Amino acid sequence: MIRAVRGTRDLLPPETALWNYVETMVREVFRVYNFQEIRTPIFEETQLFARSVGEETDIVSKEMYTWEDRGRTASDKGQSLTLRPENTAGVVRAYIEHKLWDRGLNKLYYIGPQFRRERPQKGRYRQFYQIGAEVIGPPTAGSESPARDAELLELLATLLDRLGIADWCLQLNSVGCPNDRAAYNEALRKALEPVVSNMCVDCQRRAVTNPLRVFDCKVPEDQPIIDKLPRISHYLDEPCRNHFDEVQQILKAVGVPFTINDRLVRGLDYYTRTAFEFTHGALGAQNAILGGGRYDGLSESLGGPKAPGIGFAIGEDRLVLALQQTAESVQCKPDVYIAPLGAGMNAEAAKLARELRRQEVVVELGDETFRLKKSLETASKLGARFALIVGENEVKSGAFALKNLSTGDQVAVPRDGLTDEIRSRVQKL
Ligand code: AMP
Repeated sequence: MIRAVRGTRDLLPPETALWNYVETMVREVFRVYNFQEIRTPIFEETQLFARSVGEETDIVSKEMYTWEDRGRTASDKGQSLTLRPENTAGVVRAYIEHKLWDRGLNKLYYIGPQFRRERPQKGRYRQFYQIGAEVIGPPTAGSESPARDAELLELLATLLDRLGIADWCLQLNSVGCPNDRAAYNEALRKALEPVVSNMCVDCQRRAVTNPLRVFDCKVPEDQPIIDKLPRISHYLDEPCRNHFDEVQQILKAVGVPFTINDRLVRGLDYYTRTAFEFTHGALGAQNAILGGGRYDGLSESLGGPKAPGIGFAIGEDRLVLALQQTAESVQCKPDVYIAPLGAGMNAEAAKLARELRRQEVVVELGDETFRLKKSLETASKLGARFALIVGENEVKSGAFALKNLSTGDQVAVPRDGLTDEIRSRVQKL
């Protein structure tokens, strides 16, 4: 038997109803914050991720699905392509490629699959879904302002609240700018020198190539060493400190609670200044429900104009996991099961189904070969609220038997009153 590839999975009903519920709600929230949707390709040139996310990150060095595409001719070596491991790089590439600043497009959101070759476990998959947003633009448009950071964080708090995710925790840090980073990297290198030989091989390499990435280490034995390393918060220059203070002030003013976590550096190189994660207690080991931050130099590093930005990505799989308990309430069940009884009744039932569905009634159709008992059993199994019986007598008289499947009560309803009758009865349930 051929099974879904390790780390990928089929999303089946009724869970898919929850995914749709989340996406509908999210789109609604994005709309009132004036974000518009962007859809970028799921694969890009490998260079895009290497240059933005960073060569030394786990994502680029270990987790990407990369292949050499075939060239156009036998002698033509193909391009190196990669399934997107995240979507910010693609959005910023599109921003530059289509000069989106000329069109005033500076608030964009996306929903779609991402791919990372991580070790699969609950809440961690090789194909997973992210819902993300980016605010990016020329500095003259205020894209560098701490007001943008606070606005995005407030949006996230609103979104999680509206979805009914109560016990989230916003962890906030500033990872500074290239100015501070040079001094900080130097301090980290110095602090690592005497201890790095006791750390894992990845950290030994990171200590030389990109010491900030030591904070991504998950090896338990390394954690006490990492805990004692200098923190970026002591190395922020004045503009970065002021920026961070202002973000916190606005969050306090609008009433979004947060905790400062100065170990939070996020696993992608492009972040500058504000970095954040929202965690959720019920998720266990993979408790980060979303992450994001500023990336003021990303556009320039990809050959674009100066375009400071900030964004986030919500792990949709984890969001749905956190919401699983409400799955029952968003599941779609038929309002009515139409049971055609006897030869020639399939056509009559089809006519009625068409009329009702055009009036937004959720209809499931039976088959004229079923006996009434089988029809009613099928209807109950599907969770239909009512059964509508369509036999020769009913067609002749123009009134149909509508049966409440939980009480067994039955009433005769004339054809032109059917929609209203079903609607009002479903509403009363
Ligand atoms: P990142 O792009 O690494 O900042 O991740 C942002 C969010 O995406 C995380 O907080 C997770 O919720 C989610 N995420 C990242 N990697 C995975 C994965 N392999 N499986 C499921 N969700 C993931």
